[in-house]
Amino acid sequence: MTKRRAVVKNSSKHILFLLASGQANTRTELAHLTGSPLSTISDTVQSLIRQGLVSDEGSVCFSGGRPRQVLAISHSDEFALVADIGRHHVRAGIARYGGSTELVRTSQFDTFKGPEPGLQALDSIFESVLSQASGSFRSIGIALPSPVNLDTGSPNQPATMPGWDGYPVRRHFEEHFGVPVTVDNDANLLAVGESSFRRLSHSNLIAVKVGTGIGAGVIVGGNLYHGAWNEAGDITHVRVVDSNPLRCSCGQMGCLETVASGYALVRTLSEAGIAVSQTMDVVDLARRDVPEVVSALRRAGAYLGQVLAVSVNFFNPEAVYIGGIFSTLKPFISAVQQEIRQRCHPLVMKGLAIERTQSGIDAEFIGAGVFALQQALRNDMQTFMRQ
Ligand SMILES: [Zn+2]
Repeated sequence: MTKRRAVVKNSSKHILFLLASGQANTRTELAHLTGSPLSTISDTVQSLIRQGLVSDEGSVCFSGGRPRQVLAISHSDEFALVADIGRHHVRAGIARYGGSTELVRTSQFDTFKGPEPGLQALDSIFESVLSQASGSFRSIGIALPSPVNLDTGSPNQPATMPGWDGYPVRRHFEEHFGVPVTVDNDANLLAVGESSFRRLSHSNLIAVKVGTGIGAGVIVGGNLYHGAWNEAGDITHVRVVDSNPLRCSCGQMGCLETVASGYALVRTLSEAGIAVSQTMDVVDLARRDVPEVVSALRRAGAYLGQVLAVSVNFFNPEAVYIGGIFSTLKPFISAVQQEIRQRCHPLVMKGLAIERTQSGIDAEFIGAGVFALQQALRNDMQTFMRQ
């Protein structure tokens, strides 16, 4: 392949991925996000339209401004099946190009029972969704609450998923449904989903998911950053206290998870005599302003803020987005914001947004759908390049 053709191929792929994720849908937005001149974008878009990969959807007025030609991925009836697997529930449904979702439902799911019962149940849920979906089924996207080996599509040393370590999740769905399957960590996909949902707002950010566990995803230049061994953003095992006698799921002492996660709060509050057995109990009591629970959430938020402050000073992102069920609790969010503001240098605080995610409960779902549909496009591109 000539160098020229490689350049064209890479820029085309980038544009396709931005349109597929919903981060952009006009030539001007594509120029903004890629940093390329508008004339170059127009040429590449024209080429993609000729190839049948992109369609021109006509002109639309944005906020009373000049009308702009809106672009979309062709074959907009195509969709991905998506599942966001949590420790106790799974959300499953379909995702379409541009970040939209349909037929999403929540079902019980117990990761502690091992992979096979759960994934077989998910097969049935997917079959049910497929029977109601319209359009062309292209791919599957799975979000897992664990580190993921991207080479194999398997959980990688998951802390609270007995029997799942190395289990071939990707192969399970490839063999059952015969389509490409993408598998990634849920906090990574939360970052992708939020980035897609907010479109042009920020391209360098940290997105944190706080619920029963804690995880973070890092977006650099608009793309998810996985790191050398796919562990970027895994802040949960940063040691934050030396005196905490509670052992973490990783075997170490004093990790962030032992003081700031839902799992940690359930443990410390129940030891203090408060009737909580799962993260949602903590959330319910916090919403009723039970003083001990509110105080515990403030302490948890402060610990998370300490770790994020180091990340912000180091990475200088434009935004820190907080997602997961704890992000709905004001005492928690306020403590995170306060700690970051107190500990960060003014130069990195300038313009830094520290906010709740806007994409809500479906952030990881949207992110998993974006990745799955981008994989389908990648296959289309490979087919085209071979022609
Ligand atoms: Zn740990």
